[in-house]
Amino acid sequence: MNVPTIGVLALQGDFAEHLAVLRTLDIDTREVRLPAELEGLDGLIIPGGESMTMAKLMDSYALREPIRARVREGMAVWGTCAGLILLAKELEDNRPEPLGLMDMDVARNAFGRQVDSFETDLSVAVLGKQPFHAVFIRAPIIKQLRNGIQELASLPDGHVVAARQERMLATAFHPELTDDARFHEYFLSMVNS
Ligand code: GLN
Repeated sequence: MNVPTIGVLALQGDFAEHLAVLRTLDIDTREVRLPAELEGLDGLIIPGGESMTMAKLMDSYALREPIRARVREGMAVWGTCAGLILLAKELEDNRPEPLGLMDMDVARNAFGRQVDSFETDLSVAVLGKQPFHAVFIRAPIIKQLRNGIQELASLPDGHVVAARQERMLATAFHPELTDDARFHEYFLSMVNS
């Protein structure tokens, strides 16, 4: 099997941390800033950061339509935190304009100022028995899943924080900020599926 090439959208946010994890795996990696850099990618990660800024930059670099087109052609995509926001079909306050790829309704900054950031162990069946240590930073939540999108993890209060739809993956937290590469490996398994 060919070694997959995974790109990380490198406009803003913590793309370097994703690349650092990917480099520990046996694959090719690429920073993506221009539409031409999407060509030949097997998967694209949209990192955490600030979704308003990232959406603006995505439009300045004319990346919106090319990303949507490549995903329709079968490129896998994974959004973490701000990236999850950008993958949604519906955002609670209609800002920024998302890519509209995953059938989910999302609320930004859903945990309020009191709990800006927190960490917790999540049970994620697709990763095996060992819990996944999840870092949440001004995180969104998935308010509603539609059309057969699969829940992968939720908080004890029932808020969905990870979901998959075909070759699209969304996590409200930041697997790139821990030493546990299981989510990155899971994304690679989606690319190869
Ligand atoms: N709150 C940010 C937003 O709305 C996301 C935070 C993050 O990516 N850590 O874009």
